Amino acid sequence: MTIPYEQFPLSAFCSLLSAPLPLSSRSMTSIDVLAIAAHRDDVELTCGGTLLRALEFGKCTAIIDLTQGETGTRGSAELRAEEASRAAEILGVSARINMGLPDAGIVNTPETRAQLAVAIRRFAPRVVIAPSPHGRHPDHRVTAELVRDACFIAGLRKIEPSVPAHRPLKVVHCITFREDNMKPTFVVDVSSVFERKMEAVRAYASQFEGATQAGEVYPNGESLFDIVRHQAAHYGSLIPTRYGEPFYTVETMRVDDVASLQVSTF
Ligand SMILES: [Zn+2]
Repeated sequence: MTIPYEQFPLSAFCSLLSAPLPLSSRSMTSIDVLAIAAHRDDVELTCGGTLLRALEFGKCTAIIDLTQGETGTRGSAELRAEEASRAAEILGVSARINMGLPDAGIVNTPETRAQLAVAIRRFAPRVVIAPSPHGRHPDHRVTAELVRDACFIAGLRKIEPSVPAHRPLKVVHCITFREDNMKPTFVVDVSSVFERKMEAVRAYASQFEGATQAGEVYPNGESLFDIVRHQAAHYGSLIPTRYGEPFYTVETMRVDDVASLQVSTF
């Protein structure tokens, strides 16, 4: 269900039927978790399981892809659009839009910040998932900063005043595949949805069939699908569970009931 940016509806894309909260406590126009990435397939690889878990908790999710993948070595932008649409269905997101920024040419400027801020306002998310602050692909690295800045700008009423201001509560960075990051702040247990995440990854046949490398995935001879599984198993082992997706946040995580802490020391 890829929705062209221009036609993106302002309301009624949340499945309120699956929401565990009373209607009065939810906004008709807001979603809970918005994943923003440079390229189609980035979300599936780095946080697809987390979006599926959010769905399990009755949350409403959406994706913004910044580029159309026109400079990708494999496939074409048109084919990637079809694959992204199929993957969005598998992930159960309420909407997926594409900003049409230049592939391999994303820049963080007042213009791109304002453009992305308008899209963020329309989704009015509580939590935004951004790429890792580090990345060998410059689009990934720049997108991490652009997303943070756009989330802040989205709260400034005088920037693009035609769309009501909304600043997300929180930005988290998905750090799968990077070994030069800090330790994850937290790992999401995606064991129950991992095979479905892999189904979403496999929707990108033009990108990944027979591939041993993609994006931030360093080649080691294994198929890409095996690398994704092994990385998820590694991060799962940290919390410990079968499969996990790691995240980093600048802010300290809060705990209320210290007796409810999980993950054994021994
Ligand atoms: Zn990418």
